[in-house]
Amino acid sequence: MNDPFPIEGDTLAGSPSRASGHATSDTGWRRELGEAIRDPAELLRVLELPVELLAAAERAAGSFPLLAPRGFVARMRRGDVHDPLLRQVLPLGEEDLPFPGFSADPLAETSCGPRPGVLHKYHGRALLVTTGACAIHCRYCFRRHFAYHDLPRGRHWWNEAVEYLRADASLREVLLSGGDPLTLPDAQLQALAEDLAAIPHLERLRVHTRLPVVLPSRVDDHLLRWLTATRLAPVVVIHANHPQEIADDVAQACRRLRDAGVTVLNQSVLLRGVNDDAAVLVQLSERLFAAGVLPYYLHALDHVAGAGHFLVDDQRARELCNAVAARLPGYLVPRLVREEPGQAGKTALR
Ligand SMILES: *Cc1c(COP(=O)(O)O)cnc(C)c1O
Ligand code: SF4
Repeated sequence: MNDPFPIEGDTLAGSPSRASGHATSDTGWRRELGEAIRDPAELLRVLELPVELLAAAERAAGSFPLLAPRGFVARMRRGDVHDPLLRQVLPLGEEDLPFPGFSADPLAETSCGPRPGVLHKYHGRALLVTTGACAIHCRYCFRRHFAYHDLPRGRHWWNEAVEYLRADASLREVLLSGGDPLTLPDAQLQALAEDLAAIPHLERLRVHTRLPVVLPSRVDDHLLRWLTATRLAPVVVIHANHPQEIADDVAQACRRLRDAGVTVLNQSVLLRGVNDDAAVLVQLSERLFAAGVLPYYLHALDHVAGAGHFLVDDQRARELCNAVAARLPGYLVPRLVREEPGQAGKTALR
């Protein structure tokens, strides 16, 4: 699906200092997160869009609130309701349309973890749901309906999860996901990384995050320090869907990660009206590469209620990927996959 790990929940951005748990971390990125746009009327005003969109936007935002950092909004074209970045965040009346086969929990994930906050579906790697908070709310996100209120909380909330990881010697890699793990304070992430590094059979620490794309100031010295300080090989999987998302400061943030020794990959979701165009996908891969990032997955949309208007059918998805493969070297062609319950890994769309 999507970012492996979308959500809704106690959005950090809603009250940054409370969520951070300590006042000293009110650094640049955290303040920017606090200043993100949450009011549909403001988004329309800033982008000079028709006020007629407001009623539907407010209605749709009632079930999954609008959230978009100002830096991300600044990359959108004014006056263009079809802007590919705007479509990812603007609540629309279409979200109310019923689509057959679209449900609130398409991956049947709500109850499949061996411990609270742990998903272990694939061999050798397990995923930690670190937080329900994100820095942006993507309308296509498959976790838009999740109730994350029962997420583990409090200091060292991960102790039970770490015990589970320690007890399974087949594990080589831990994925930090959410929500978005990089909405958490660095002190907490550092403590978690240290606890993970103390598990002898683990070799890699992977972070799935949209922050380098939607809030590139998040890639600062504090982040780089804990991410590269342990013996675990760091991998960061960012999430960009359209080349217009890769602004100069985003490219710079990605290069900083890579220069610090982090393997940086990108995953996208194939979205109608956003990136269902071979030229757009080619340009995305090229921009990513120029920023030191390799394309990893292109996810078929999860069939989540409220996102049916983003659907690209499988036949068209394959055609697009073939067109991209005909124009780029193999290492710049993302793998077209879908997440299916009960499989040993992501399923290739063939
Ligand atoms: C997607 C996913 C992973 C990662 O899969 P990779 O193919 O290694 O990228 C791991 N665990 C869960 C539960 C996932 O959904
Ligand atoms: S960043 Fe977007 S796609 Fe990723 S979990 Fe959050 S809402 Fe979902």
